[in-house]
Amino acid sequence: MTDVDMTGDEPETGITPGGKDGAFRDVLAGDHARRGKPPRHFTDMDQQERQEICAQLGLPKFRVSQLANHYFNHLSTNPDDFTDFPAASRQEAAHRFFPELITPVTVQKADQGTTIKTLWELFDGSRIESVLMRYPSRATLCISSQVGCGMGCPFCATGQLGLTRNMSTGEILEQVRAASRMMKSGQVAGGPGRLSNIVFMGMGEPMGNYRAVLSAVRQISALPPKGFGISARNITVSTVGVVPGIRKLTKEGIPVRLAVSLHAPSDELRDKLVPMNRRFNTTQVLDAAHDYYLASGRRVSIEYALMRGINDQAEHARLLAKRLNHYGDDWAHVNPIPLNPIEGSRWTASKPEDEQRFLDILHKAGITATMRDTRGSDIDGACGQLAAKSVKLQA
Ligand code: SF4
Repeated sequence: MTDVDMTGDEPETGITPGGKDGAFRDVLAGDHARRGKPPRHFTDMDQQERQEICAQLGLPKFRVSQLANHYFNHLSTNPDDFTDFPAASRQEAAHRFFPELITPVTVQKADQGTTIKTLWELFDGSRIESVLMRYPSRATLCISSQVGCGMGCPFCATGQLGLTRNMSTGEILEQVRAASRMMKSGQVAGGPGRLSNIVFMGMGEPMGNYRAVLSAVRQISALPPKGFGISARNITVSTVGVVPGIRKLTKEGIPVRLAVSLHAPSDELRDKLVPMNRRFNTTQVLDAAHDYYLASGRRVSIEYALMRGINDQAEHARLLAKRLNHYGDDWAHVNPIPLNPIEGSRWTASKPEDEQRFLDILHKAGITATMRDTRGSDIDGACGQLAAKSVKLQA
């Protein structure tokens, strides 16, 4: 595990300030320096730093493994649970290694209690969200990796916020621990169970916070006591098409699933819907996605938010199929998603008959495609909407 720069001061993976053309706002909020860094957490540290802190507390090195066991295996940061620890050091160890990084602000339930969306407040008052969705055979958590998002997609609530700051590995992983606890304790309808899948599809562009996200992926997938033991194959990292990030991920050799938010089959249209397309166009994005498939053997998910009259017509489906088939068979899986519109926005969800036609055309062209489930749509399920609302309320 490597140390993580949590400030996001330097651009990562090739994303650089968007310039004056308004293409995208991938620069940190002006006040990010004033906000400071999140408190340093066990999961932000490498083994050496953990051992050094133990030494400062007068504890031998092996206590680090015990703390890791409490965190990743028992999902606990409560000193009362550290019964294998000397009573006198429990409080201080918990204080130094497990500062409280995320605090629930609101918890909304839907789908008969099988969907739970939590709005979290971070140490600097920033707000992010995560959504836990339980299905008969799996439980998936959608997590955030940045506060806001700098990609500026005009149809997206989070995009309207701009990017406030990158999240630390600890802040990302605390969402996972909280959901794992909810599943384990039976707080999610269906009784006690296990969190099995993670998708980085909450707030933010994961590739824009590459180092913290990668460190989180490693600790989600490592077996306890080094991590939560959720198979890398059950982790999805999404991107709007940050090509250097995809290329870097390809080289890591971790078998996570890659999801690319394409939303349009041509540069002409995608330039309008996804400003990042002006930096990395559809050909560059699809080339990189296909190379990821070749290297990992994992089918790439193509996310496609269907917007009425904009990208949901027969010609769009035909062009999408042609562009994907250009690379060969069965390397991508398309997930059309009915857009959950932002209040007062001109972007609206497609008509059901247009959605169906879109799917039919893809299927006839031999493309695997499934309409993505709209879990939680009655609790502001579109990415970032809950946080966007709460920000509005505060203003
Ligand atoms: S759609 Fe995704 S990439 Fe675009 S602004 Fe929203 S969160 Fe960012």
